[in-house]
Amino acid sequence: MEKEETQVMKKVEAYWSFRLDVVCPFCREEFNLDDMDGFSYVEESGLNVLEHDTKNSTDIEICCPFCNNTFLVDCAY
Ligand SMILES: [Zn+2]
Repeated sequence: MEKEETQVMKKVEAYWSFRLDVVCPFCREEFNLDDMDGFSYVEESGLNVLEHDTKNSTDIEICCPFCNNTFLVDCAY
């Protein structure tokens, strides 16, 4: 079978994704702040993706889903 001269290139979309990974200072478990039991921290808090060194992105109080201890988080990029 002859190859067609004008073959249509297949095209798909590429989806950006990001994680907001944190390691609990108490139990050392690593988890994604943006995916704590379906909870999106970024969506709920108004935090912008990649935001760091701002009032909104520092001293975020987080409760560890593994050990229930509370600690502060600064976003870093
Ligand atoms: Zn923990």
